[in-house]
Amino acid sequence: MLSHVEITARVALTEAAHFGWSNRLEYSHDCFVCGRTGRTVSLRHGATHGVCHSSQTALDWQDEQAARGSHPAPIRVTGFDVNGSGATRELRCRLSFWWSPFADAERGQAEGGELGAGPWVRLFYRVGCHACRDAGEADWFNGEQSVQTNAVLPVARPCTRCGTDLVTMTGRPEITLVG
Ligand SMILES: [Zn+2]
Ligand SMILES: [Zn+2]
Repeated sequence: MLSHVEITARVALTEAAHFGWSNRLEYSHDCFVCGRTGRTVSLRHGATHGVCHSSQTALDWQDEQAARGSHPAPIRVTGFDVNGSGATRELRCRLSFWWSPFADAERGQAEGGELGAGPWVRLFYRVGCHACRDAGEADWFNGEQSVQTNAVLPVARPCTRCGTDLVTMTGRPEITLVG
């Protein structure tokens, strides 16, 4: 059957933050294709499918097919809306996936679920520092960072160069099964 989950997340920004959500994420998934619970799928908005792999470790997209045990998975990003301006940025993301009940191939007592036993998501974003930019620093861009469900709150991410406060997350991303 076709199932959907909605993921929402919100971060607070300082005026020094140059912020944008990345178009990729990682999500916990009970995968009926490989018959395993607690897998991780890597997803990219615009991609026609996800990639299922065994680890929560971020993999480079190009290397995922080569990662051991990974396979294409029938799950993709079907909604990706960014809201907010000024001090807050919200991400509302919808995932749609084919799913069917199964028992874990290696742990028979573990039943696959639409949401899994411990729903988890890792969201990526890119951030730069206006304080460094205005000071003429060539490397004012901090690059890509991530926030995830099991982070210790609040998450505070100051500039990696000058220490100016940039991004704060006070609540966990929410993951909801939707009809
Ligand atoms: Zn799988
Ligand atoms: Zn800075």
